[in-house]
Amino acid sequence: MSTSKRRMSNAPIILWFRNDLRLGDHRALTAAVNTGAQIILLYVLDDETPAPTPAPTPAEWKMGGASRWWLHHSLAALANDIAKKGNKLILRRGPAREIVPKVAAECGAGAVYFSRHYEPSSVALEADLKALLEERGITCKRFSGALLREPEDIRTKAGDVFKVYTPFWRALSSEFTVGKPVAAPAAIAPPAQLPKSDSLASLELLPRKLDWPEGLAAEWSPGEAGANARLDAFLEGAMKDYADARNRPDLPGTSRLSPHLHFGEITPALCWYRSGQAAARTPGSDKGHETFLKEIVWREFAHTLLFYWPNLPEVPFRPEYLAFPWLENASHLKAWQRGQTGYPIVDAGMRELWRTGYMHNRVRMITASFLIKDLLVPWQRGEAWFWDTLVDADLANNAAGWQWVAGCGADAAPYFRIFNPVTQGEKFDPNGDYVRTWVPEISKLPTEHIHAPWDAPEDVRAASGVVLGKSYPRPIVDHAAARARALAAFGLVKSSAQK
Ligand code: FAD
Repeated sequence: MSTSKRRMSNAPIILWFRNDLRLGDHRALTAAVNTGAQIILLYVLDDETPAPTPAPTPAEWKMGGASRWWLHHSLAALANDIAKKGNKLILRRGPAREIVPKVAAECGAGAVYFSRHYEPSSVALEADLKALLEERGITCKRFSGALLREPEDIRTKAGDVFKVYTPFWRALSSEFTVGKPVAAPAAIAPPAQLPKSDSLASLELLPRKLDWPEGLAAEWSPGEAGANARLDAFLEGAMKDYADARNRPDLPGTSRLSPHLHFGEITPALCWYRSGQAAARTPGSDKGHETFLKEIVWREFAHTLLFYWPNLPEVPFRPEYLAFPWLENASHLKAWQRGQTGYPIVDAGMRELWRTGYMHNRVRMITASFLIKDLLVPWQRGEAWFWDTLVDADLANNAAGWQWVAGCGADAAPYFRIFNPVTQGEKFDPNGDYVRTWVPEISKLPTEHIHAPWDAPEDVRAASGVVLGKSYPRPIVDHAAARARALAAFGLVKSSAQK
């Protein structure tokens, strides 16, 4: 088809779905539908583009196992929602750089609309596609929506990129308002002839290990309806006490929206708008509401950092940490991954992660601190494990989270603040309920010993059916000694920074 023909107003528009798997509050979709054109709804499973990132040690950031499970179900939900609007979700597999122009050529599309993303590989892909499509006379339109504000729009008074969270929050939130999110279109007109689609099964997103998804399925409802149901439940329930309860892994105190936000099944703007409405009708919820918004803005901060520091997932933000004397210890890493460190709160978190694809934020900090500081295993090993096992695995949030705990991030916890896994457990899981759920072999221990089974008198352990080294591991390191070792290692970093 000639370029001039493609430009005709009746040429279909391709809506290229990425991590924006929803129909409501979707600027690109709304704009496409508003043109009156026929719409081709395309998702491309692209494992080639995300790797490697531009770093001295290229890492593999193609989607991990838990994310693939999520994606399978999210695409199924999206396909269903699209069918109700009279159209069909077209699935293809391969590099988006090739597939999007190919589908455009197959169906004579006049334009490609999509939502903007911020990962380094996405940024490069968007630029390449724009050039490629426009060369062929196909309009390429990019829309915002994954973030509240574009990274280019938030700057310090001096015009610099923010490296510290609190002023970033102030700059973003002062006088920030969002309008009512746009509802999903009533109908999405299909072209007379739809391009062919791969089947969802042929994308092979579900794990081969058949028992793994059971825990995931029990916990989650991927898709836009599931996302909205989570938000509703949070706004009507946990938001009021969120400021305090968010630190308690034994309570349902947080929103659990992270995978829904990552896959774009819901937007941060919609969360902002609807939480404001809920706060206005719920007396006493102001503090919880503001704390929730601050967490949503941590997500913005992490994405902005990644946008400007594209090697954040691999390289410490503070270069002095390149000199850190890490210990590569495969057996320690394995014990940590399997939840067999002998520290109950750490093991509970790692097992929750394996079973549900999720770990509570407080426990992410405790388990990450244990790996990095008690075991001195490089933070990138933990980041890679989280990448594979989290349903909310997100390049920006994961990298920023690990660098925060390691002390090498932009606005990070000081390295010398080393979490004590016993006192953290006692403080944030005071009755031991979280540990009992995930580490059942020590569940009969009295609460005063649940976070340090090795300190329990022998007869108490025996009465609780706990045999250290047999039914539950002895601690793989002594925390006090490990802390001293970590501080000595940190001393080396400090002195290399002062040279
Ligand atoms: P809520 O407490 O309800 O918060 C609401 C939303 O705010 C979250 O859904 C999330 O989108 C955002 N948010 C909350 N805390 C943070 C934070 N610290 N940084 C950035 N955004 C935040 N989050 C991910 O989404 N993906 C990751 O891969 C990821 N990896 C992490 C790794 C480490 C080592 C650490 C310490 C944190 C990581 N986080 C990650 C951040 C945080 O733990 C999760 O976003 C949060 O636990 C998700 O639970 P929730 O939806 O109930 O959060």
